[in-house]
Amino acid sequence: PSESRKPGLLGRLLGRETPDAPVLRRTLDDEMLESLEELLIASDMGVDTALRVSSNIAEGRYGKRVSTEEIKQLLAGEVARIMEPVARPLPLYPKKPQVVLVVGVNGSGKTTTIGKLASQFRAAGKSVVIAAGDTFRAAAVEQLQVWGERAGVPVLTAPEGSDPASLAFDAMTKAQAEGADLLMIDTAGRLQNRQDLMEELAKIVRVIRKKDPDAPHNTLLVLDATTGQNALNQVDIFRQVADVSGLVMTKLDGTAKGGVLVALADRFGLPIHAIGVGEQIDDLAPFDPEEFAAALTG
Ligand code: GDP
Repeated sequence: PSESRKPGLLGRLLGRETPDAPVLRRTLDDEMLESLEELLIASDMGVDTALRVSSNIAEGRYGKRVSTEEIKQLLAGEVARIMEPVARPLPLYPKKPQVVLVVGVNGSGKTTTIGKLASQFRAAGKSVVIAAGDTFRAAAVEQLQVWGERAGVPVLTAPEGSDPASLAFDAMTKAQAEGADLLMIDTAGRLQNRQDLMEELAKIVRVIRKKDPDAPHNTLLVLDATTGQNALNQVDIFRQVADVSGLVMTKLDGTAKGGVLVALADRFGLPIHAIGVGEQIDDLAPFDPEEFAAALTG
């Protein structure tokens, strides 16, 4: 099975390795470090993180002969060490309903992620309500309804163009009346007018706090891994408009550029609650730092 795996980063750097010479040794010199840094940067790890990771690897080994396997393991260890603190499932407290506000740019995978999460919580025996808070995109509302059906979860909607805060308030009222475990609120992802978006999100938060001063208990930012370094800008922007508490990284099935997760973890330290690994309802996985590091370093 290992033949069918895509070569990871190190596979490309140290690709001269053959099955007959699995422990090829090379001197850890400037040239090798530069190649390593270039590869890490190409994986979207970001310059600062790439330089620090490679300098950690070089520490105490510069000028010595190292095997490809050693480098792979050191790199995987460095990556796992950065990622371990952020690998945390969505925290849910006993208070009902736990409110999860879901933010992110259009196309990042918000709708899909809400559907997948709803399905997982249903499977765990929790009752879930979804509010289709992107009231300006009729297609988004329809798409969310389809996901709601798949997950067996009610989706509350409001007429196109109506106030999302009013929908959020109604959804909160309903979720409380029904004793639902979880309320997930979708939101608009229009970044063209940041001021509008900020006000819209602030208003949603304000009205749901009338019902529960601790809500939302989580504000989840959904990011698309294929956007690479752009994901970092999105975190910056969304942290200005909302109190982001954690991340879901989607589309990790379609990219070799997962390095951006390392940059995100290193720079923001926000928890990564789950990763999207496909378009189907079950394609949402917990984030596993060791597995991720092994796949990235290859
Ligand atoms: P939204 O605009 O943020 O609500 O994004 P959607 O949930 O509609 O997703 C946009 C597109 O990305 C859709 O075609 C989804 O099927 C796709 N998508 C979402 N998550 C994933 C994922 O984890 N992997 C892959 N391959 N595609 C995804």
